[in-house]
Amino acid sequence: DKVGNAMTTVTPMMAQYMAIKADHPDALLFYRMGDFYEMFFDDAAAASEALDIALTKRGKHDGDDIPMCGVPVHSAESYLLTLIRKGFRVAVCEQMENPAEAKKRGNKSVVHREVVRLVTPGTLTEESLLEARRHNYLAALSCLRDDWAISWADISTGAFHVMPLGRARIGAELARLVPSEVLVSEAVDAELRSVFSDLGIYPTVLGRASFDSSSAETRLCSLYQVQTLTAFGNFSRCELSAMGALVDYLDITQKGRLPLLRPPQSDAVSRLLQIDAATRRNLELTHSMSGGRAGSLLSVIDRTVTPGGARLLERRVSSPSRVLPVIHERLDAIDWAMETPLSSTLRDRLRKVPDLDRALSRLGLDRGGPRDLAAVRNALEQAEEICDALSGADLPSLLTESRDALGGHEALLTVLDSALVAEPPLLARDGGFIAPDYDAALDDARRLRDEGRGIIASMQARYAERAGVPSLKIKHNNVLGYFIETTATHADKMMSPPLNDSFIHRQTTANQVRFTTVELSELETRILNASGECLEIEKRLFSDLREAILAKAPQLSETGLALSEIDLALGLADLARQHDWTRPRVDDSRAFDIRAGRHPVVERALQQQNAGAFIANDCALMPEGDGAAVTLLTGPNMAGKSTYLRQNALIALLAQMGSYVPAHSAHVGLFSQVFSRVGASDDLARGRSTFMVEMVETAAILNQADDRALVILDEIGRGTATYDGLSIAWATLEYLQANNRVRALFATHYHELTQLAGKLEGVRNATVAVREWNGEVIFLHEVHDGAADRSYGVQVAQLAGLPKPVIARARSVLEALEKGERDRATPKALIDDLPLFSAAAQAAPTTAPTGPSPVEQHLRDLNPDDLSPRDALRALYDLKALT
Ligand code: ADP
Repeated sequence: DKVGNAMTTVTPMMAQYMAIKADHPDALLFYRMGDFYEMFFDDAAAASEALDIALTKRGKHDGDDIPMCGVPVHSAESYLLTLIRKGFRVAVCEQMENPAEAKKRGNKSVVHREVVRLVTPGTLTEESLLEARRHNYLAALSCLRDDWAISWADISTGAFHVMPLGRARIGAELARLVPSEVLVSEAVDAELRSVFSDLGIYPTVLGRASFDSSSAETRLCSLYQVQTLTAFGNFSRCELSAMGALVDYLDITQKGRLPLLRPPQSDAVSRLLQIDAATRRNLELTHSMSGGRAGSLLSVIDRTVTPGGARLLERRVSSPSRVLPVIHERLDAIDWAMETPLSSTLRDRLRKVPDLDRALSRLGLDRGGPRDLAAVRNALEQAEEICDALSGADLPSLLTESRDALGGHEALLTVLDSALVAEPPLLARDGGFIAPDYDAALDDARRLRDEGRGIIASMQARYAERAGVPSLKIKHNNVLGYFIETTATHADKMMSPPLNDSFIHRQTTANQVRFTTVELSELETRILNASGECLEIEKRLFSDLREAILAKAPQLSETGLALSEIDLALGLADLARQHDWTRPRVDDSRAFDIRAGRHPVVERALQQQNAGAFIANDCALMPEGDGAAVTLLTGPNMAGKSTYLRQNALIALLAQMGSYVPAHSAHVGLFSQVFSRVGASDDLARGRSTFMVEMVETAAILNQADDRALVILDEIGRGTATYDGLSIAWATLEYLQANNRVRALFATHYHELTQLAGKLEGVRNATVAVREWNGEVIFLHEVHDGAADRSYGVQVAQLAGLPKPVIARARSVLEALEKGERDRATPKALIDDLPLFSAAAQAAPTTAPTGPSPVEQHLRDLNPDDLSPRDALRALYDLKALT
């Protein structure tokens, strides 16, 4: 029949390939062939392009050549990395038996193969595929009716969390965690898809069954080998569903080998300072605008010396707390670290601590090697020393807990210490990682392997003596293997009692007689098998040691966390000491009072460029009663407004993550949320309908901010024509003051707004000082009370190198414009006439009775503050064209 015929044209190997490929349609199939992973058909085309390797062919299918490409097994990791980065998933298919075993089953049998692992961005464990100082989260998002929950895990460290959340917070949480993979059910809607694509996340869609909450419970119970999950907390159906989907996916990708996950930790949005995606981007907390770590807050405050410490810092920076005792306990730890004379001893020890979490995770997945065993040993060695060093110290509570978690590994450490060589090789399969004198059988096997000939020589001497035949030799040939040889003269003696008991005759030649002994033939077999035996024993010892470590996995990961905690406290203390940071006073007031605050990233950049000192500035947002406190900041471009706004948001964040802050003194009344927005024209690079984005983001603040929010608005409203922008900024400010009652910093170039300061309670003006000298502007970067008198846009344009005639012309245009505005007195009229909240409705300018000329109209529509130098030039040419 037809099907049968089609089958016969396919080789058995291709049939196997296609069957396996059919089970993994969304992944590239790495099909193991000896020393290579090979890919066929479309996979080959895609992979050869992504990896820039040759596309060749192998055999035919349905009469056509089969496209093929391959990568060597020993360098597969780097190819995997490239593929994962480019968004592929890879199914790794191994040979599960050797060709000889396959032959035994039948002449035509193909070697049995199975997919042993699906490599996806969220399930990596290899050192070379991961960034040591960053987490690699896999997240699952679940929805049951109107409830949402997110769970996330880092299988490379064992962290596992779950959190219920409102739908509106999904974007913010994903922005906090930056997962490399997000699991969602088929039901995910278009709106969520756009949240994902905004964050650059490609969701992995799973069937509904993966999210089923009852099977989730069963899955989790069997993962932790418990009867019920109540010991870990009370989880909602929705949380269970999110955790279950995650564990199910691990099961699928790891092919049944589940990683070591710590018991799930239930988090609550209410315990964290809430920061949405736009704010994170804007404040450059863990990534700079350009996407990398460099230039971010994280990069300038990271003084940790262990990968675990660096990841803990990343967690702290992305999730500052809003729980006072937690914040105080972290600050106490830094206080201690600032004072302790042990600092450099401890940090020297910590520098020698390897990545314990990731070594454990690889061992847990049975993907580890001897170096992972050594990593555990080295970490424990240092942990013991650190524990000893801290034994007499008067520690604050957080560090007392850490110290207590360091010890108690003596037995394991002793075993690892005696078992492992100092610097073991990467792969267990090559052997050579077990130290001498650890295992007698291994020592014997190695002696045989290495000193086989020596042993034969000593055996020969022993036999010569026993037989009384000094000329007796032990020799080797390919037919007999090892044998004992004497001249014919001595043969009789050896063939009669008592010697014939042990010497067994094998062969007589013309002049020689050859014997063997049971001992010799055993030795021979053992020599032949010795290297194989060495490897076998080492393999067994490896898995014994691995078991011993895994039996202690929960305690070991506590020890890992404790080392990270100590590292972080010492790192932040080091930073604080070197840059003269101070302990913030954090309480549950609504104060925000910063004296001589600095922007840590800008300050560092100025230092590195030798560009002069950073000017420190105060900031006081002190609401009366339950009212608002808003500072309206005006000043020319380049004066330092954005820097000032952001530095205060960063100081608040640093304080709430439990760090010292760059200021002389800081009083921070707990914030619940931080919002930071930049006006659209600063955001053009993102290439979207910028005004719309700006308004959507502003709306989010007005709808969500409560009276414990910190709001930073930088030039909001500038994405549209002048009066629209002014009206929107105006109404926004009024609403924040009257309804949200936030603590806010509001930078604007609309000088009209400064007149609100007298009118609205809690609103005050500040300006960044500049000095004019010889018609040039000098930036002082000092923030003072009061409003800027003018914008200095033309002076800034001059600094930027616009041609002299353009500057001169711009000056006279500006004068004309300012005169026009003064005469019409629009801003004043606006202030006096407008009731609250109606600014937008009535902000339209009154037209002169005769109507404006085209030039006047054009001039009216221009706002110099709004113009880039290039726009200004274009505007001038446009004006000229109208005359
Ligand atoms: P604006 O927002 O007013 O246009 P920015 O905040 O972007 O100005 O600051 C412009 C530049 O001025 C910064 O890149 C920085 O180099 C410098 N600057 C800002 N604030 C300070 C300060 N307090 N001390 C020293 N230099 C500063």
